[in-house]
Amino acid sequence: MGWAIALHGGAGDIPVDMPPERRLPREAALRRILEMGVSAFSNAKYSPLDIVELVVRELENSPHFNAGKGSVLTTDGTVEMEACIMDGNSKRCGAVSGITTVVNPISLARQIMGKTPHIYLAFDGAEAFAREQGLETVDKSHFITPENIERLKQAKEANRVQQDYTQPIKKGGEKEMPLPDGDSKLGTVGCVAVDSFGNLAAATSTGGLVNKMVGRIGDTPIIGAGTYANKFCAVSATGRGEAIIRETVARDVAAVMEYKGVSLKEAAEYIVHEVSPKGTTGLIAVSPKGEVAMPFNTTGMFRACATEDGLMEVAIW
Ligand code: ASP
Repeated sequence: MGWAIALHGGAGDIPVDMPPERRLPREAALRRILEMGVSAFSNAKYSPLDIVELVVRELENSPHFNAGKGSVLTTDGTVEMEACIMDGNSKRCGAVSGITTVVNPISLARQIMGKTPHIYLAFDGAEAFAREQGLETVDKSHFITPENIERLKQAKEANRVQQDYTQPIKKGGEKEMPLPDGDSKLGTVGCVAVDSFGNLAAATSTGGLVNKMVGRIGDTPIIGAGTYANKFCAVSATGRGEAIIRETVARDVAAVMEYKGVSLKEAAEYIVHEVSPKGTTGLIAVSPKGEVAMPFNTTGMFRACATEDGLMEVAIW
């Protein structure tokens, strides 16, 4: 038994010939942020909950990922961010949707968890609470990058709701269509962590889908769909939100472990490969024993993990 940490930067149809100028900065960001998370374990003042918040804040601050700065745009060209955080022992959790000015939505989710009698705040109420708590806010334009303006343009031209980097979903239908230009290699972010006492935590943050309807809420902030932690595991999912919500992916990994008595790896692989529709889902998960699972049924998933016994990995495919 030892500490373990895993993070992701989104799952999807990531072409293996992705140009180095797009791949390398993302790999470098994952490595740097993983190392930051690892070094936090040696500081006794950080709990797994603190570590997942810290890591996700860094991922939100990186424009290479679809969360915080770099979030993809709604059909109106606006940003509506979502985030969720959960503590395994207590099952305390916090979630936000429809965030437009808060620099780190994950920290707002943590404040909701710690300072309100509620779990989930959205839109104006969530923004007002962030201001009341003195969280850093900026002009809405801060989050919008030229790449995401271009991605929205392409999605609109193709009349599609496009996942941040993967196959677009045809509006009004289930049929998958090829990505117009293959240039959207960024994703939702998440982190799961366990300390050497078996305390677990999970966090996920996203801008959602390119060209999503204004007001659309995905799986990320929904407890049990995109994010979940209890005494059995901590899970952060990524992929097509609507599919992840239908399959309650994160909660099901924990349920399979609890009710079937199987290992983290078996439970995670079962949910991703046997239950979730192909091409829709990836997840990262850790168990109290310090095991890590990172299965995906998409072409790739930006991911990284490290464990106390010396494993360290950054991978995409
Ligand atoms: N699951 C996210 C959503 O549907 C997108 C992603 O993971 O890339 O909002």
